[in-house]
Amino acid sequence: MTGNGRAMGPFVTRRDVMMGGLAFAVLCKWGLPLRAAESETLTLSGKPAQGGLVLGHVPEGSRVWVSDEPVRADGGLFCFGFNYNDTEAVPVRVAYPGGLSETRMVTPSPREFDIQRIDGLPEQYVSPPAEVAERIARDARVVVEARMFDSNETWFAEELAWPIQGIITGNFGNQRVLNGEPRAPHYGVDIAASEGTAIAAPTGGIVRLAEDLYLSGNTMVIDHGHGVSTSYLHMSRMEVAVGDRLSRGDIIGRVGATGRATGPHLCWRMNWFQKRLDVALAASARA
Ligand SMILES: [Zn+2]
Repeated sequence: MTGNGRAMGPFVTRRDVMMGGLAFAVLCKWGLPLRAAESETLTLSGKPAQGGLVLGHVPEGSRVWVSDEPVRADGGLFCFGFNYNDTEAVPVRVAYPGGLSETRMVTPSPREFDIQRIDGLPEQYVSPPAEVAERIARDARVVVEARMFDSNETWFAEELAWPIQGIITGNFGNQRVLNGEPRAPHYGVDIAASEGTAIAAPTGGIVRLAEDLYLSGNTMVIDHGHGVSTSYLHMSRMEVAVGDRLSRGDIIGRVGATGRATGPHLCWRMNWFQKRLDVALAASARA
């Protein structure tokens, strides 16, 4: 890994515990300190950093809100993520089945991202002609829709295996300068490999998009549950279809250079709904 492999600090949190009326009375009567009982606990793991996915565990039957929006927590497992430029603390509120509730503030650790210059891209991809603007806008809509699934699956809680082996040529959060023009940051990890290299599913999932898009070429979005998805761009071929259920290691397609690409590579991405996460933070250490 280059550049962005900084160690992440511990969770920076502020904890507030609010007691329901009955629980408050019982705890006071027994002289216990004003904190949640041991069984009423919220534990967080994962990466509370810019681009990181945070996992939460709560007792079964709890309800959870992140930034005042309800999140799926059936089975006591939930998650949320931070964009590359998020800086604000996020409130995580838990309503425990016994009536207690708790709010914990989670602050993303800041990271530093490098500038990456790419020259020699065909001009129609850097400044697409007006007639393809409509297609690009339509492509963006189908990708947004593919990332909206909130399925009751928990593959997201497993460590991701790398889909191919190769040389990392671009990292998440790189500020990009294409043919000399500053652009939006890069949201994927680019892994260079020869054309036709088999791409394996990093963990279980359901295929939500498998389509040829103007900028990203043959593009796949895989749903890993609770709003977490991974994406695969520029493939030469796609070998699974929308709706297919995948197991870790299943071959989903082949490395290519379709769309806006200077050579064969896999651009691998991760999202929590529309939040763009750094897939390298969720992936296993590379061999
Ligand atoms: Zn990329």
